[in-house]
Amino acid sequence: MSSVESKKIIAMAIDPIHIGTGGFTIGRVDNTIVRDPITRIPKIPGSSMAGTWRYYVALELQSSFKDEYKQDRKKREEKKENIQELFNAPKEWMKNFNGNRFSAIKCAGQDDEAESTLEESKEKLGHCGHCIVCKSFGFSKKDLSNQGMLFFSDLNILFFPVYTRLGVKWITSPKLLDKDIAIQENKILTSKGDEKYLNLGWLNLEVQRQHNLEDSDLQSSKLKLDDIIIVPDSLISQIINANLEVRTSVSIDPITGAAKDTALFTSEAIPRGTIFCGEVRGFQRDNGLLNLDDIFNALNDSKQYYESLGVGGMTTRGFGRMKILGALNEKS
Ligand SMILES: [Zn+2]
Repeated sequence: MSSVESKKIIAMAIDPIHIGTGGFTIGRVDNTIVRDPITRIPKIPGSSMAGTWRYYVALELQSSFKDEYKQDRKKREEKKENIQELFNAPKEWMKNFNGNRFSAIKCAGQDDEAESTLEESKEKLGHCGHCIVCKSFGFSKKDLSNQGMLFFSDLNILFFPVYTRLGVKWITSPKLLDKDIAIQENKILTSKGDEKYLNLGWLNLEVQRQHNLEDSDLQSSKLKLDDIIIVPDSLISQIINANLEVRTSVSIDPITGAAKDTALFTSEAIPRGTIFCGEVRGFQRDNGLLNLDDIFNALNDSKQYYESLGVGGMTTRGFGRMKILGALNEKS
């Protein structure tokens, strides 16, 4: 029997987030970010989420092995009946699945080495193919590959911070909220509805009325209804793109340690405080040997790595950290 379960992912940027497109230049920005091809609104691709979360679950699992078992897979295999003895304070999802005894730090990676033509290097470097990381996120090893049980959607912007004369407010639109909301062209809705005019960045817009959103519309974002401004779908992309963070950095010559000539470059990023929304779907497979509850628990227990290691590029320059809000293992 196969089943599908999906969990909502709500996340908040703690730093500016830069998911690069690989050196495109738009206007005066050298390092541009990934955008939806149709709306032009920046996003975090599902592939970035799958890649980072894979790494973080592997890290959590690996760091839970007792020191004597960290490198020694043979020793782990000897503990046939007692998988829980391999770990310090094992979580349920670690000891529930026998395949976890084969896990190695190499399971964390994209596994480019599996493409290697050297038989020996395939043996040494490939994914283990057995552990919760490999089974959930997919693996390729030798002649065997498997596409995994988890599929991540893109994380799209749900609420985006902009400066107004009343302080920072978060804009959204009917489409981003996935709601039918009547709003006139070039006007905005606020929680009070009586500001007459309000600036969003440099753009001054007329307030049409109250937005009447409810607390449930805020998801687990921790924003308040008073923080939210709804703008028409026709304006949201333009306002977001006009209020992205643009940073100028200097390239350092690694040999001289000094700034290179003509080394100034600019990078755009999604600003801190932005709230994203997406989902992860889990497909039950494998005769139920590895169940979805354990997988979602593994995601939940490793989500805190996003707050230290982050997602995307330039994480050594203060970009990329974010917080996954809400629990992924709650029944939805
Ligand atoms: Zn593995």
